[in-house]
Amino acid sequence: MPKVVILGAGVIGLTTAIVLRKNGFDDITIVGKYLPGDDLTHEFTSPWAGASIVSFAFENKLLQDIDLISFQEFERQVKEAPEAGVMHCPGVHYSEIEDPAAEAWAHKLYTNTTSIPKDQLPKGVVFGYKFQSFTMSAPRYLSWLVANVQKLGIAIERGTFEALSQVADHYDGADIVINCTGLGSLFLTDVQDKTVNAIRGQTVLVNAPHIKTQMYREGPDVYTYIIPRPDGNVIVGGTLDYVNKSTVADPAITRDILKRVYELNPELTHGKGPDAFNVVSQNVGFRPGRKDSVRIEKQVRDNHGKKLTVVHNYGHGAHGYQSCWGSAVKVLELLNDGVQLKAKL
Ligand SMILES: Cc1cc2nc3c(=O)[nH]c(=O)nc-3n(C[C@H](O)[C@H](O)[C@H](O)COP(=O)(O)OP(=O)(O)OC[C@H]3O[C@@H](n4cnc5c(N)ncnc54)[C@H](O)[C@@H]3O)c2cc1C
Repeated sequence: MPKVVILGAGVIGLTTAIVLRKNGFDDITIVGKYLPGDDLTHEFTSPWAGASIVSFAFENKLLQDIDLISFQEFERQVKEAPEAGVMHCPGVHYSEIEDPAAEAWAHKLYTNTTSIPKDQLPKGVVFGYKFQSFTMSAPRYLSWLVANVQKLGIAIERGTFEALSQVADHYDGADIVINCTGLGSLFLTDVQDKTVNAIRGQTVLVNAPHIKTQMYREGPDVYTYIIPRPDGNVIVGGTLDYVNKSTVADPAITRDILKRVYELNPELTHGKGPDAFNVVSQNVGFRPGRKDSVRIEKQVRDNHGKKLTVVHNYGHGAHGYQSCWGSAVKVLELLNDGVQLKAKL
């Protein structure tokens, strides 16, 4: 049985480990510089996520396949794994930009998608639809994944590496190294993917237990969202900033976010205005963006005369939660020489 080491303990590394373990790989170790439960750091994206389960796959066939797999799995978890904290959540999406592909994909993917009649759209919006998907609390979901990893007998360890080859050397006898390092793929000396970019996202966590609908308004350079969590808090945002690398929440951006989300749904403060929010925290996280979208790719390398299989699974940008299970299945398929499988999840 091949020995597998997964570098990275974010949502991508953890779900990849679980899928491989349930589908015949018995010897798996996850290792990461940061692990779920650590103090927050801007080098580790997963704890900062919204996390809503929507899709940006539109016309990208690989992402469509991936998101379809993930959606089925989240549906199963709502019914069979309440501890995960994934909940059904109705949604409203408004767009200021004509985008027939996005609209068509929404109708195909989400349950009960209905177009909103043009005369009922807010000013400036060109199309909108109602749908149902899922939301969750990212920290709670990560804890649940770690508990599953441990239950499945997968080792999880702390360690920092400069290269994938160094991982293979450290875990003497490793046959397969899976690269789930997100932003780390910019720095690993034998990856150095210069197309990876940290995309800054500022959000505000507010307490608003009466809000039960996720809402989005997409414009040419602005994306406003409201994501209720199971615990009564709501993540509101956001920003998608490729240039600003400040790790500190900017109060002017916070004010702008609260103004935008209030316009999207005044019920957030019971109509009392954008100064009446019950703010829990202001947050800044960095998404592992990649110019050409996600990299899920197998390479066979020579490591000191021994064959080493490397599989990359990084670059999930703004959609690491929604695409985690599907991406893990794609890794499994690559390890099975590209054969499409009905994977156990
Ligand atoms: C504000 C914000 C909102 C978001 N909202 C959503 C949302 O609503 N829905 C959604 O699906 N996604 C959302 N995302 C995106 C999502 O959070 C990311 O796509 C996802 O967390 C990426 O996970 P990952 O496991 O690839 O990377 P990470 O979580 O960053 O994990 C990387 C792991 O690799 C380890 N590592 C890296 N380099 C090394 C090294 N050299 N040696 C050892 N270990 C290393 C790290 O320590 C860590 O364990 C959001 C992100 C942000 C910032």
